[in-house]
Amino acid sequence: MIEIDSVSKVFGSGATAFTALNDVSVTIRENEFFTLLGPSGCGKTTLLRTIAGFNAPSSGSVRLDGEDLVALPPYKRPVNTVFQNYALFPHMTVAENIGFGLDMLNRPKSEIKATVAEMLELVQMTPMADRRTSEISGGQQQRVALARALAPRPKVLLLDEPLSALDYKLRKGMQVELKRLQNETGITFVFVTHDQEEALSMSDRIAVMSNSRILQVGSPHDIYDHPAERFVAEFIGETNFLTGKIAGQEGETLRVALDVGGEIIARQPPGDPAGQAVTVAVRPEHAHFCAPDSAEATVTGEVSNVVYLGTDTHFHLVLSDGTPFALRLQNTPERAADAKLGDRVGIRVAPGVAQVLRD
Ligand code: ATP
Repeated sequence: MIEIDSVSKVFGSGATAFTALNDVSVTIRENEFFTLLGPSGCGKTTLLRTIAGFNAPSSGSVRLDGEDLVALPPYKRPVNTVFQNYALFPHMTVAENIGFGLDMLNRPKSEIKATVAEMLELVQMTPMADRRTSEISGGQQQRVALARALAPRPKVLLLDEPLSALDYKLRKGMQVELKRLQNETGITFVFVTHDQEEALSMSDRIAVMSNSRILQVGSPHDIYDHPAERFVAEFIGETNFLTGKIAGQEGETLRVALDVGGEIIARQPPGDPAGQAVTVAVRPEHAHFCAPDSAEATVTGEVSNVVYLGTDTHFHLVLSDGTPFALRLQNTPERAADAKLGDRVGIRVAPGVAQVLRD
């Protein structure tokens, strides 16, 4: 639905020129909850503003339903934005704020009234319709900002860290709300966040950004279980990195001789790994204890720390060459005896669970 093709954005010129988007291409599908995820300064907001029309790309094209958007001013695009600070009008009531965009579009009064009533229901703010927005809470202001942006029924809603001003509990509640609103309205949401948990829990697909580029696009499951490169594996969740050399190929998996000793069977990265030397990513919850130096053990190490976390226990291990390794076990009543501080332990990683990273 939204096709972003080789978009670059350079701010300034000469010695002070800064490339905020570097040859970014991505297609966002109709009706999807699409998230741009990455650390501060990686270019998320710049990409969002390019879709909205507040930024003109230095090169490349942005199309919506096949139509070139770049020449259209923001107000002519079937796109609306919810900003981080909500930007509500404090002297207007909740209902007036929600109807504001429709008023500007000169829609008939009866239609505005009906749409405002519908939007108030959608965001569960009907009882507060006549309050001024300066007299409602932060979470309620967030709902009004959403309702106002949804009221003209845009094809696309852009959301720039809309939950960052809310406290933890309210944010969790609004995450569920946003997902519900997107489902109910069928509007395509493009959501910006630097919070990996927020991205994993809400999105149909995620684009992971770093240094003005998109590194990987995929479902939350793809991104977490099949990170293509080190940055993605590190930014989303916790990961162990083991280095080694490719020793053979077996179907979709590679046999990697680890530098620390032993072998691991891990999934191939997208595309070919460039050389023989590779890094393998292993999630802490994908490793299990077994007898040290046994045939079962992928590697052997020593327990250097044990952290009890209620639902899980987190073990810090050190492999024989000094490489740190984290292992996480769920605390179920059936679980076999733990390893203790100082124990020598075997660590088993099942074949095909770990991921070889792209260089
Ligand atoms: P955050 O999560 O902190 O909002 P972001 O990923 O959204 O970060 P952007 O706001 O897109 O990052 O900014 C990307 C880079 O481009 C930053 O280094 C920023 O300083 C720079 N930048 C953004 N807007 C401008 C501008 N108008 N002029 C010059 N540089 C800019």
